[in-house]
Amino acid sequence: MNETFDFVVVGSGGGSMCAALVMRQAGKSVLVLEKTELVGGTTAISGGVMWIPDNRFMKSQGIGDSREQAITYLDATIGDRDDTPGTSHKRRLAYVEEAPAMVDFLVDQGIRLRRLPSWPDYYDAPGESVPGRTVVSELFDINRLGKWKSKLRPGFLPLAANLDEAMELPYVKRSWPSKKVLARILGRTLFTRLSGRHLATAGQALQGQMLHAALAAGVEIRTEAGVKELLLEDGRVTGVVTDKAGSAWRIGARSGVLINAGGFSRNQRMLDQYIPGTSVQWTNTAPGDTGEMIEEAVRIGAAIAQMEERVGNPVALPPGETPAKPVIVHGDITKPHSIVVDQGGERYMREAHSYFEVCKAMRERDRQSPAVPSWLVMDSQYLDKYMLAGSMPGRKKPKAWHQERFLRSGATLEALADDCGIPPDRLRATVERFNGFARSGHDEDFQRGDHAYSRWLGDALEPASPTLGAIERGPFYAIQVYPGDVSTFGGIVTDEYARVLREDGSVIAGLYATGTSTASVMGRTSPGAGGSIGPSFTWGFVAAKHAAGAGDGYSVRA
Ligand SMILES: Cc1cc2nc3c(=O)[nH]c(=O)nc-3n(C[C@H](O)[C@H](O)[C@H](O)COP(=O)(O)OP(=O)(O)OC[C@H]3O[C@@H](n4cnc5c(N)ncnc54)[C@H](O)[C@@H]3O)c2cc1C
Repeated sequence: MNETFDFVVVGSGGGSMCAALVMRQAGKSVLVLEKTELVGGTTAISGGVMWIPDNRFMKSQGIGDSREQAITYLDATIGDRDDTPGTSHKRRLAYVEEAPAMVDFLVDQGIRLRRLPSWPDYYDAPGESVPGRTVVSELFDINRLGKWKSKLRPGFLPLAANLDEAMELPYVKRSWPSKKVLARILGRTLFTRLSGRHLATAGQALQGQMLHAALAAGVEIRTEAGVKELLLEDGRVTGVVTDKAGSAWRIGARSGVLINAGGFSRNQRMLDQYIPGTSVQWTNTAPGDTGEMIEEAVRIGAAIAQMEERVGNPVALPPGETPAKPVIVHGDITKPHSIVVDQGGERYMREAHSYFEVCKAMRERDRQSPAVPSWLVMDSQYLDKYMLAGSMPGRKKPKAWHQERFLRSGATLEALADDCGIPPDRLRATVERFNGFARSGHDEDFQRGDHAYSRWLGDALEPASPTLGAIERGPFYAIQVYPGDVSTFGGIVTDEYARVLREDGSVIAGLYATGTSTASVMGRTSPGAGGSIGPSFTWGFVAAKHAAGAGDGYSVRA
């Protein structure tokens, strides 16, 4: 070995710094190796929301939950299947037990977290929480990172706005309280910048806090230090090989190696192999999401599973950049006066469902009838009131949207259908049926708006009918929608201690994995907001406790 640490973490994703903090608390030396020039992974560009059942913030706010309720919900929504070894009742129990303990640990380490006031669980199932089980970062002054500030991956929102405040912004034109929120955000952003602070939000704030705490605790972090190989001696992982000035650099790991290197959304070869029909052009993940650590784990004998799963999120590809930058349109397709139809003009799903389910439905539909891309069809009321593909409400859209036929339009539904190549009579029939549901207040085909989450996704200023509204006022418009993603969700199989397993179920000693490098504990579903980052942090926490010497001793309540 060229050098040796107690614990080596591959990738600087969600669980990495959490694991590193546990190790430092146990007095162990830790090295985090990040392939790209920036720390934080997709977690830094994300909302940074973690799904944490029965968490301390719910307790302090008197919001009822329990581990029993949470496991009931997970068991009901995920189910037990033979083809999802990443999830099992036992691993889910460990999650329910350890996720709130992980949050308590972070708070003890000085990480400032909170819950969002409302984000209902995604499924109408026993044990669901309507207020929601989300935990997010407080705003964080990234100037506190000093020279490391420039090494933190930027987030998706450049304003000093909490997520719940940011959710008010689409309503600014129509609501005085939302105008006030905007004024508060702008005032805070300006004031803090003038006073020498730079408040980050969401995933960037979370990863900024984690980086700050890790540096303060003495974790060594290296960027542009991609791991090429895992070292195996007598069946035990003893370290990794990285690269130094063009030659191999061997780093030993006495207590273990943790893989937290993301998924493979940016590797077209792996997508073609495991999730055919999807494209790297549709992903919003960070550039390092290229999957090589999953393949490296397989090379040394790890089992992989659930490889065809992904955290889908519908996207549009507006012109402007080459290749077009995918813009997430989940919040767009759930608003009144719009529907999603396949290329034959048929509606086929509940648009106001989770991004995960929407993309699953789109790809499943495509197997019967062309639906990739699908069309988001809307009327003028929609354009006047709601954001579309990142543009503010209003009919004035970028010129290129018309010139490059991104935004299609027609004075009548038939003219719009002609422009989109949809059979006009089909589109007319589909819209008329949907308009009937909008008028009666009940979507008999797909129950859009029946469940708390479905309503939450709609127009907060229309409580009587937040997601149903007739498509009736011309001109009519349409854009194409693709089943994009914010992660893949399959990978290395791990046990309830985050240890990597072989096909025969035996443990590869010295190797742990977390995050989207693994077959998710959520199986083939996503229970609520934060179903990816919550587990990434939690299994990082669990892996480090195990590697630090807790062994198999921590409790998993029956
Ligand atoms: C806009 C957006 C919003 C989202 N919001 C949420 C949300 O609120 N809640 C939620 O749960 N999910 C959300 N997601 C999805 C979520 O962000 C990801 O699933 C999650 O962050 C993945 O975390 P991770 O810990 O697995 O890895 P990542 O955070 O992606 O980190 C992996 C790191 O490993 C590095 N790496 C890769 N290979 C190597 C190597 N060989 N050597 C060294 N380093 C390597 C990568 O460069 C990367 O930095 C969102 C995603 C997006 C894009």
